[in-house]
This record gives sequence, structure tokens and C-alpha cells, in this order.
Amino acid sequence: MSQREPGQQGAGYGRSDTAAPLDVTWCPSPNQGPRREGLSPSMVVLHYTAMHGAEAALDRLCDPVAEVSAHYLIGRDGRLWQMVPENQRAWHAGAGEWCGQGDINSRSIGIELDNTGGHPFCEPQMAVLDVLLSQILMRWSISPDAVIGHSDMAPGRKGDPGPRFDWARLARLGLARAVPAASGTHFHQPDASLEDLFCRYAHDLGYTAPVDTATLLAAVRLRYRPWAAGPLVAEDLIPLAQSDLWL
Ligand SMILES: [Zn+2]
Repeated sequence: MSQREPGQQGAGYGRSDTAAPLDVTWCPSPNQGPRREGLSPSMVVLHYTAMHGAEAALDRLCDPVAEVSAHYLIGRDGRLWQMVPENQRAWHAGAGEWCGQGDINSRSIGIELDNTGGHPFCEPQMAVLDVLLSQILMRWSISPDAVIGHSDMAPGRKGDPGPRFDWARLARLGLARAVPAASGTHFHQPDASLEDLFCRYAHDLGYTAPVDTATLLAAVRLRYRPWAAGPLVAEDLIPLAQSDLWL
């Protein structure tokens, strides 16, 4: 079944991208409905639960009063629950936009990871995420570029999956956007301010939610330079910009 282009596979993990069927525990949530306007999933949004334990998160994601859900929840030990069928609309994304498009819930599959936000993501959990993501991307013909974090589509409002999430791992496996390498070390600045360039490149990548530059910078750094601080610098453009900006 597998069938990403050779070379897109991550060599380091030794696992197939579609691999064996996952062991999924079905736990239906009432917090779902049909996707609007006949939409089908074209993106994946990753979250952390910000709760202590998968069971507590599951209770909340299936509580009609909470009015939240996701398609999947992955526990720290790699246990996998499904709450909403993939062809249905789960309530995980809320307000925000990506690539100029709103109603992310109608366009996406939402995956919650059991994590408070304050500690690393466990290997068994990431291993299941690798397989689940590869299967979802295959099933719905979703581009790795369309695998995003909640913080990407809701900058300033949401911070998950947070600075400890291993985006580089997903990129190596062809399961998230590959970050272009800078071709040099000297930044060649054309006739535009650093801020203008940053905003333009971020916008072109999909960061279209209307926020100020500081909020946008915080969101982009969460994804690409999670421990960076201080004002915008040329290095912030490396993950976004074309290589011809570097000499
Ligand atoms: Zn979230």
C-alpha cells in the first residue's frame, strides 16, 4: 500500500509509512457533524491536550457540554482512540485560518496528543503519530505541507502542539513541510524591510490569519525556531524564505 516517492521516506526510523493496521479503540464523541459544503479533509491539525492523562482528555472530548472533539487522541504510551469518523467534522480547530481559508474543522482531521505542554512527547506516542499521519495523508491525498499545528492557524490564540513538538522528525519522514536549507550564510536583503519580507513569506506559506507582526513571529517561531527570543532577525526567514536570499 505504501507509496510515497522513494527518498521522501525517513531513513532513520526503519518503519514503513503505512505499516501494519493501527490498533484503534473506538470512543465516539457526540461533538461532531457533517463537513460543510461537501468538503473533505485537505489538511491535518495537530494539538496537545494540555491535560493530565488521556482518560481525562477523552472524557472532555466526548462530553456534550464541552462541545469539543477531535478525530483521534494518542496517549503517551501509544494507545490510540478514535472519536469521530474521518469523513465527519470534529470540533477541534475553532476560529482561525490557514492559506486564506476559514472553517478549518470542515477541511481538516484533528489529532490530539496527550501532553500537558510542559514535557517532551514520548517515543511510543510519536511512533503511532508517524503511522497514523502517513495513513491519513495517503487516504485523503493530503500534502505534507498541509500538516500544521493549532498554533499555525490560530496565532496568538493557541500555542499547541508547542515548542517541544518534534516537527523536524515529521519533516524527515515526509509527514510535514520540509524546511529549505539556507544556501549561504550572508543574508542578501532586497528592496524590502525584514519585516515586510517576513510577513510576505509567512503569508505565502499559509499564515494568513490577521494578526500583528509580533504575534505572527511568535507563531512562526513556535513551529520553526521554538526557543528563539527577541526581535525579528534574518535567521527567522531561513525556514520560510527562498534560498536566493542567502549568499
Ligand atoms: Zn489545540
